[in-house]
Amino acid sequence: MAKVDMCVNHADRRAVIRCRQCGKSICDLCVVEAAGAKCCSQECAGKFQQFAARGGTMIPKAKVGIHPLLKGLAGLIVLAAAAFIVLRLLGKI
Ligand SMILES: [Zn+2]
Ligand SMILES: [Zn+2]
Repeated sequence: MAKVDMCVNHADRRAVIRCRQCGKSICDLCVVEAAGAKCCSQECAGKFQQFAARGGTMIPKAKVGIHPLLKGLAGLIVLAAAAFIVLRLLGKI
């Protein structure tokens, strides 16, 4: 039988979510909202708020960009496509 997550504070209450900060399972009575996220305690809420205030999110930074090799490859594909279109327009294909 699959384990049902129970609230860490209430053994008899089923957990509905996990704390965004520490990952503890908590019931709806224990939820503390912080910066749009749900946390298990004021302590976690405070931590999460600090984290959010620093501009941090749970989404990893994807702005690092594409690998240079992939960029070169994309450039080649664009060039090949352009050449194809030009040849096509000139009636060579
Ligand atoms: Zn927590
Ligand atoms: Zn609870």
